[in-house]
Amino acid sequence: MTKKLTFSLLLSILSLGLLLSQQPDFITEKYFPDPDIRFNTPTLSIEEERFATYDEIIRWIEDSIAVHSYAQVEIIGTTPLGREVPVIYLSNGSSAGKIRIWMQGLLHGNEPAGGEALLYLANRILTTVKGSEFLDNMEIAILPVANVDGYIAMSRRSAGGYDLNRDQTKFADPVSKMIKKAFIDWQADIAFDFHEFQPTRREFSGIGTKGASTAYDVLFLPSGYLNIPEGLRKVSRDIFQREAELALDEHGYTHNFYFTADVSGDEMILNKGAQSPHSSSTSYALSNAISMLVETRGIGLGRTSFPRRTNSSYVVANSFLESALLHRDEIQDIVAGAREATIAATEEIAVLNEPLIYNTGVNFIDMSNGELITLDLKIRDAENLTPTLTRPRPEGYMLEGSCIREAEILSLLGLEVKQITKRKRYRVESFVIRKYEEAEAEWERINTVDATADLINQKKVFPKGSYYLDLHQKNANYAISVLEPESPNGFVSYRVTPTSAGDTLRVHRVVK
Ligand SMILES: [Zn+2]
Repeated sequence: MTKKLTFSLLLSILSLGLLLSQQPDFITEKYFPDPDIRFNTPTLSIEEERFATYDEIIRWIEDSIAVHSYAQVEIIGTTPLGREVPVIYLSNGSSAGKIRIWMQGLLHGNEPAGGEALLYLANRILTTVKGSEFLDNMEIAILPVANVDGYIAMSRRSAGGYDLNRDQTKFADPVSKMIKKAFIDWQADIAFDFHEFQPTRREFSGIGTKGASTAYDVLFLPSGYLNIPEGLRKVSRDIFQREAELALDEHGYTHNFYFTADVSGDEMILNKGAQSPHSSSTSYALSNAISMLVETRGIGLGRTSFPRRTNSSYVVANSFLESALLHRDEIQDIVAGAREATIAATEEIAVLNEPLIYNTGVNFIDMSNGELITLDLKIRDAENLTPTLTRPRPEGYMLEGSCIREAEILSLLGLEVKQITKRKRYRVESFVIRKYEEAEAEWERINTVDATADLINQKKVFPKGSYYLDLHQKNANYAISVLEPESPNGFVSYRVTPTSAGDTLRVHRVVK
């Protein structure tokens, strides 16, 4: 006992040092005070200034979640460092007519508020009248600690060194595969991914005399990617985001669109939104689900404002469930319509897109005096894209027999990929690579490729064992997003499909 106490004391002193916040108290007090709520959650129920250990979280799930009959805790796999990854499935029985909602947190291990909020939400669903009403209308899957090894190390990355939110088209990390398989097998209608953002960044160091910090509690990231059916994109913004913004307003929390910043010379440009199939907001939507990524203001803050960060994540997550309840029939129609439209789709596919550019005001906090500054900044808006390269949607794709890794990834993404059992002639458009450039800098352990291709029409005989992927299926939008060689996050770009200038790609478009 004494030994244990001494150890935990030592741990808390060590953690305290590591968790010292980079934010001055006067800014926390002025803009980000904690709510007057007692949370029963793993980190907020411990007195010490540290985060709950993985073992404490597992024990908390056993004691506060698994004891309820409407909760089923399943282990979806084991990480490279041997830790089990639990998903909490909440259901009060029959699945008939219910919406399926997937929620995850801590895909980046140093963004703990999302995981904490989702555990709070799970407990509330199981112990309140409102929760029963949710479960009469929906089934909910909660993955509270997506990146277990990263959480234990308080690292953004996985044990394998990967950013798991840049790994959803190349699947270099086994944890990415484990999560995607659980998600695809469960066939969610809606998916939400909870993150935290870093408020004080070097890009903001030129603002004021001591630099500036992002002023918002919550940032929203719906996908603007044009290969996602429009109805799904619209409903994620117009229903889920809008109603969550109103809920945040009611609680006195501030919000804006998600952005990253680029500084060139004197100018700072903000990139709004996302169109990247390698990350969750777009990736989940490509399975024909409504999808959104949410970020609370947290990275680098240690335990500062942790109740507020947890509560603002919870307010958003709870609002999402309220929206699903309120608009249940409309949502079911839109999701079903998107699936049917994808299976029957004939319209062009968008391979490359340009964001809309305009100026808008964004709030920052001056770190020297705590004043709010509104800057008029240039925005590159990926929620408003215009295609710059389109192609007719093919009937399907033929992949040569050597495309083993491609076929594996496509199957993981829920696509049916068939190996032909005897040689067959297909009318195809083949890609002849015209330009092939490898990036000089390594990124996620690869040098990405920028390629362009010309199409040649031919009748080509494919031997037994070649793969045929028919595009008339629910998850077809994944295929069109990774198989065209120009796609920024596709198989050529990410070195899944090797090629070089002058080559004919081993992936072919099947045409009528
Ligand atoms: Zn993140």
